[in-house]
Amino acid sequence: MRTARRASTMEVPSFLRQLVRETEKMVTFFFKGGRRHPETDDDDDFENEEDIPSPYLHRPVLEKDTEEGGSKWGINYAMASMQGWRAQMEDAHTCMPEMADGFPDWSYFAVYDGHAGRTVAQYCSGNLLDFILDTGGVTVDEDVEHVKEGIRDGFLGIDRHMHTLARNESWDRSGSTAAAVMISPRNIYFINCGDSRTFLCRNGQVVFYTEDHKPFNPREKERIQNAGGSVTLQRINGSLAVSRALGDFDFKEVEWRAQTEQLVSPEPEVYELERTPEDEFLVVACDGVWDAIGNEELCAFVRNRLQVCDDLRDICAQVIDLCIYKGSLDNISVIIICFDGAPKVTPEAQQHEAELEKIIEQKVEEIIHIIRAKDQELDLLYVMKFLASENIPGLPPGAAFHARKIA
Ligand code: MN
Repeated sequence: MRTARRASTMEVPSFLRQLVRETEKMVTFFFKGGRRHPETDDDDDFENEEDIPSPYLHRPVLEKDTEEGGSKWGINYAMASMQGWRAQMEDAHTCMPEMADGFPDWSYFAVYDGHAGRTVAQYCSGNLLDFILDTGGVTVDEDVEHVKEGIRDGFLGIDRHMHTLARNESWDRSGSTAAAVMISPRNIYFINCGDSRTFLCRNGQVVFYTEDHKPFNPREKERIQNAGGSVTLQRINGSLAVSRALGDFDFKEVEWRAQTEQLVSPEPEVYELERTPEDEFLVVACDGVWDAIGNEELCAFVRNRLQVCDDLRDICAQVIDLCIYKGSLDNISVIIICFDGAPKVTPEAQQHEAELEKIIEQKVEEIIHIIRAKDQELDLLYVMKFLASENIPGLPPGAAFHARKIA
């Protein structure tokens, strides 16, 4: 079991890791060539090798898909996803507030982050839960070890099945991460395969989060090397940046090794945590979120928003806006699942929010006045920069000025 750690442990400082990530992105971007335009560019239009399509668009696609709902046994959830800067939308998700017939007080939520295509992610969003339930390990009388085994066997089962389909139906070469939570009346099961992530906020704190499966993690690296591969540029054989995933069958062809001992393993890590009345909410999201914001920061942001906004879909949308303002270049998907213990809207917090709006409005007027007095062009970026440099008390945590919309 892994519990939340503080950032002060002896690791590479997070700003350095961030710097490495940003540099990596810029290098990728540079070598992949110019950006593409969403409408005018055509995928199949590349005649020679040099015309490798850029994975990024000229402008981000900012439309969001959202959904929301609840269950009779007392959770509310919402989901939002957005294509963003990527040339393709390869994320998929599953939201089952009532998991299945015969499981009226169980729920299941998952995010699948596809790469190199979307076939595997979409197949998983439609079928992974069925594969898990078909193992028979998940039963209403809930034997924890059987449930965990059923989840694991469901992952291995769907991956074998897709391997055959991929060969027979010549699928794309795609793969997908999976991050999911299964909620029973007694427990929360955290399920992770890849670098999407989920956390639980209890009593205002992140008390549990799943560990990302990266090729440079010692345990992952060992498996990769034992299967005859290497880890270079933090990637498997210099190409794949995630060490566990469904699909990616090009990385699963080492005949003499078991299914879970391949270069890429479809085996999920599954942890259970007993539920308590202090449980507030769960977040399930792809790395498009985690590239931009950390667990604690996002936890504080969601708690803050829950106290001023009773529309959970809107809160998911605000998380996405925050991530893209903070520089996320990826597809973004986020699910928030609220228990009874989640913070509620309070009149004090709402009043505080209204006062904040007012202060910002006044500041904007001041800035516009200054710009006009200098006879300069009105420029939104300049206004934003000016606001960001001002000391405005009471902004949402972790968000600074980025999370505020100005009309
Ligand atoms: Mn991603």
